[in-house]
Amino acid sequence: MHEHGYDGRLITPIEPRTRGFLSDPCTLPGMEPGGDHAVADAPREKCGVVGVSLADRAAARPLYYALYALQHRGQESAGIVTHDGFQQHSHVERGLVGDAFDEDDLASLSGHTGIGHVRYPTAGSLDKSCAQPFSVSFKSGSLGLSHNGNLVNADEVRTDLEAVGHAFTSDGDTEVIAHDLARNLLEEDLVRAVKHTMNRIHGSYSLTIAHDDTVLGVRDPLGNRPLCLGELEDGYVIASESAAIDTLDGELIRDVRPGELVVLEPDGSGYDTYQLVDSGSTAHCFFEHVYFARPDSVIDDHLVYEVRRDLGAKLWEESGVEADVVMPVPDSGRAFAAGYADAANETTAAGEPRADDDDGVEFAEGLMKNRYVGRTFIMPTQDERERAVRLKLNPIRSTVEGKSVTIIDDSIVRGTTSTQLVDLVREAGAEEVHLRIGAPPIVAPCYFGIDMATRDELIAADRSVAEIREAVAADSLAYLSIDAIAESLDAGRADLCLGCVTGEYPFDVEGEATDRAVDRPSIGDVPADD
Ligand code: SF4
Repeated sequence: MHEHGYDGRLITPIEPRTRGFLSDPCTLPGMEPGGDHAVADAPREKCGVVGVSLADRAAARPLYYALYALQHRGQESAGIVTHDGFQQHSHVERGLVGDAFDEDDLASLSGHTGIGHVRYPTAGSLDKSCAQPFSVSFKSGSLGLSHNGNLVNADEVRTDLEAVGHAFTSDGDTEVIAHDLARNLLEEDLVRAVKHTMNRIHGSYSLTIAHDDTVLGVRDPLGNRPLCLGELEDGYVIASESAAIDTLDGELIRDVRPGELVVLEPDGSGYDTYQLVDSGSTAHCFFEHVYFARPDSVIDDHLVYEVRRDLGAKLWEESGVEADVVMPVPDSGRAFAAGYADAANETTAAGEPRADDDDGVEFAEGLMKNRYVGRTFIMPTQDERERAVRLKLNPIRSTVEGKSVTIIDDSIVRGTTSTQLVDLVREAGAEEVHLRIGAPPIVAPCYFGIDMATRDELIAADRSVAEIREAVAADSLAYLSIDAIAESLDAGRADLCLGCVTGEYPFDVEGEATDRAVDRPSIGDVPADD
């Protein structure tokens, strides 16, 4: 492979060459993150992206399988764009991956290179202009973009582009990126064009891009959303999570670095990389590890499952409470609860080694989940959301009856689920119900591609932990500290995005505070030869 720094010309390769697009896309005008369309009391990832370049095999099917592996990152629409060396082919459809494509669709997506996207709803009805990959043809070729993340200056860039004649078909920021890049490509080589677009856009983005039959991966300068690079037997793959690479029997090479552009050779023979922006710091979304990503994915060098177990152990160290039974809220609380219970069986809540005759705690799957409920229903009112918890989870009475129970969950958003769960477990006969949360309190919304909730919907936005405990009617409640998260990720606080738990963001969001010196581009003021 070739790796390059970039100052407008190619610089020394860092790796040898061997054989070897899309965001928040379409938040409707006036809609805050997680507006009244939100259906579940949990944060939700909005998108997953993938791109492949293969030597001698159609890209459509591997992309389809990779999108299956990324389905948890978005369930509203799925799309694939391929290029056969002459023209672009696109199929974007509403629904789960398995419903969005049939054999004929896959057969029509010819070519050895392509990109794919899964997307979460930001509105009750599908606006197909918002579904991705976004594709456009222009004078010097075709472009497809898949975007995970959200720009915070998309309106400024759109206004600037409209002033020079660009017409937009959606409110999405992916289209803004596509137009800016297409404009740059009329005058510049690919690498310089991407560099100039990166200089104009501000916010969170992991992109896979198809420029004719060349597939690119780009990660924003702070590496907010994940993106990784893998090798296949006959080519290369770029994906939101390494689980997609595993699904294709590939090998994870590494994470795409913040500010890096990866360019896959169209014949699947290798890749070049360019460090286009070096911000000197990162703002990885810690919630990927806590909740969004698959436990079998490796993100920024950390296996998500191990991180969650470690966070569970730290939760015990920080706020363990002696109880008979520890049980997870399925599914994402499971690894936290396993780590918590293991630590609880090593030491007492006071930090002393357990005596031989001390039975410790029992780890139990005491809450059964109805897997056929949830992702797709729309429950705009609080009353309906409360009912949804009862449809989704049911306690196993014999596990909790007459016992003190600790429920482990990954986060509390509105508090609806927690309140109902505590109530359900008490109704099933538990004598005490303690709640332990594997993340700090969520006090502010996310502006970077996560559907969290609005500030006034967040139970922790204006309540202390004691007040939340009272609201959810638990015997005790404790959250994990920010320092524990940073320690588990081997990161300093300054290397993470902590916006939703501190209210201070790594990007310049209008009306919000930042936790660092932010270099927001001045649109319309970028020197032509920058
Ligand atoms: S605000 Fe929270 S959910 Fe959003 S990117 Fe930052 S850490 Fe992740």
